[in-house]
Amino acid sequence: MKQYDSYEQCGICEEKKATGIHLYTMFICTDCEYNMIHTEPREDKYNYYLQKLKNINQPKLYS
Ligand SMILES: [Zn+2]
Repeated sequence: MKQYDSYEQCGICEEKKATGIHLYTMFICTDCEYNMIHTEPREDKYNYYLQKLKNINQPKLYS
């Protein structure tokens, strides 16, 4: 019996979710994506998301 585990760990809320987007190497679930879009820079949450996004390993540029 095969198990199909398509769940990925969200880089923001760190929960396993089935749907979301990939931003570079980070998976962001649809809930967090929605929350991020609807968070104002003056809100505390905004800084939290920014810190999380800084953890993304961005692809190195060839020089
Ligand atoms: Zn999430």
